[in-house]
Amino acid sequence: MSMRRQETCGFQSEVKQLLYLMIHSLYSNKEIFLRELISNASDAADKLRFLALSQPNLYEGDGDLRVRLSCNKTQRTIIISDNGIGMRREEVIDNLGTIAKSGTKAFLKLTGSDKLKDSQLIGQFGVGFYSAFIVADTVTVRTRAAGTSPEEGVFWQSNGEGDYTIADINKPERGTDITLHLREGEDEFLDDWRLKSVIGKYSDHIALPVEIQTSIKKAREGSEEGEEKEVVTWEKVNKAQALWTRNKAEISDEEYKEFYKHLSHNFSDPLIWSHNRVEGKQEYTSLLYIPSQAPWDMWHREHKHGLKLYVQRVFIMDDAEQFMPNYLRFVKGIIDSNDLPLNISREILQDSRLINNLKGAMTKRVLSMLDNLAKDNPEQYQSFWQNFGLVLKEGPGEDPNNIKTIDKLLRFASTYGDSAAQNVTLEDYVNRMVEGQEKIYYITADNYAAAKSSPHLELLYKKGIEVILLYERIDEWMMSYLTEFDGKSFQSVSKVDPSLEKLVNKESSEQKEAKKALEPFVERVKIYLGERIKEVRFTHRLTDTPVVVTTAANDMTTQMAKIFAATGQSSPEIKYIFELNPEHKLVKRIAEIGEDVLFGEWIELLLDQALLAERGTLEDPNQFIQRMNKLLSANSC
Ligand code: ADP
Repeated sequence: MSMRRQETCGFQSEVKQLLYLMIHSLYSNKEIFLRELISNASDAADKLRFLALSQPNLYEGDGDLRVRLSCNKTQRTIIISDNGIGMRREEVIDNLGTIAKSGTKAFLKLTGSDKLKDSQLIGQFGVGFYSAFIVADTVTVRTRAAGTSPEEGVFWQSNGEGDYTIADINKPERGTDITLHLREGEDEFLDDWRLKSVIGKYSDHIALPVEIQTSIKKAREGSEEGEEKEVVTWEKVNKAQALWTRNKAEISDEEYKEFYKHLSHNFSDPLIWSHNRVEGKQEYTSLLYIPSQAPWDMWHREHKHGLKLYVQRVFIMDDAEQFMPNYLRFVKGIIDSNDLPLNISREILQDSRLINNLKGAMTKRVLSMLDNLAKDNPEQYQSFWQNFGLVLKEGPGEDPNNIKTIDKLLRFASTYGDSAAQNVTLEDYVNRMVEGQEKIYYITADNYAAAKSSPHLELLYKKGIEVILLYERIDEWMMSYLTEFDGKSFQSVSKVDPSLEKLVNKESSEQKEAKKALEPFVERVKIYLGERIKEVRFTHRLTDTPVVVTTAANDMTTQMAKIFAATGQSSPEIKYIFELNPEHKLVKRIAEIGEDVLFGEWIELLLDQALLAERGTLEDPNQFIQRMNKLLSANSC
């Protein structure tokens, strides 16, 4: 074989790391290399079929796509050969020498190798082609891109350690041949039965025929007696019918799970799935999966999402995100439409009524899958929420039309429970509302502890009124879209609100008198603080805390201002309402101070306390500490 332009290249360091981890962590599940390589062959066939829609000459006269497996027992090799799209030299370098997905890189960097030895973890991202090295000590690839000339073949070989060799070769047939030189002790994979059973297990569902070589010895025609020749025949060993085109009743759970792994390049089983054929005005089949674990790159900007799009069973594109709203970006699956044109492009997908209708239908389907899961298996739903709740919380903002379904799917922590676990539904909350309670109360804070111990809650705790505790970045934003549930509106307890006053403000006549006596004090605080605050007044929300700040009903909350600040946007400065607890000892004592400077110092200290509790930070913490120390040491203990 003539090799031209031969070069040796080093693997990207992440590839080395991945190879090492894979070889050492997947030893109990070696056979998956076949699934991965057949899956790649199937993708290569899909890509060719799609391009050939507009360029039929790419078939080079052979449109029967298939993948073939043959073994050589003496050389101890397996060859996996497809006649799909193939690769050019640059593509080979990019695809088989680097890890393109930057998320994978980041993951490998973050995770110590010890942790990755757990195959569950490594299963979260596809190992793909490199899995060949689980069973092979040398892997050789010969490939040629469809539509190129026979001299444009490419040779690639590596022992999976530091580097690989690449060269130009002649390759008459288009497509990719992968030769695995088996490691010591892996001879089981040379056995036809073993291969067939692995293919049956993993690759039955893919549409591409998988064929295995069976050679038969035949008597040579017209020859002397006993002379035989070997005739090579190929036996199809999988069903070779795309899973979703089959009848639901005939598909086993195992087959659905395997198809998911093929689709998502993921090792773990899906949580649930839904397979539907829709006929009538629009005809399509969809098969949608909810993964059991969040992919670790879900929050990376380049995280791919969307469905695999097929039109009349022809693969059109991966990651067609037009069919799924952003807040359901964890959904994996396929949609196969009978109505879309085969030459559809991403541009056309952008604005078509048909696409929007399909997106609407897909969204409803997923929401009802989740709704059913929540009803039928709350435990599993809880695990879903842990993985994807944060994404689903984008729903109310993104998809107001479905808000009535989405809000039933939301889960919260609340003062009813004793932990940060988000497991309270809005229905639970409403069922537990006390007599006279009109609204659903919530508080937003930086973290669970801050929310739970906020002074705003003191009296609500005492009155047994449940409050939803929100402490994730997205919460404040989400709450601005949630206006009501079951006819009850949502109310932040850090804001002034008549419903709250009504619930907590049942003043006794003594309280009224005490307040009256302190009125000149409130006036004095007002004059002292002036423009710095919106209002000064007494409150009955507090028991153990002397002061608190609240925001007016139409003003921005502290958490919202923080979100603005974090995204670099300027927001109007919040003018707080300064509320004093007339029954608190400290407030009473300060009211008696006649000397103006000392009075001022104490008011500053109280205001800073309230701001600290509300915002978690102060503009000048040092000044606060100095003032506190000064006042503490002035007071004899
Ligand atoms: P993944 O399949 O997850 O993208 P792989 O490591 O398995 O990752 O493959 C990397 C890339 O190499 C593929 O995306 C594809 O472009 C290319 N590739 C792999 N196998 C083949 C094949 N048999 N034919 C054509 N291209 C292939």
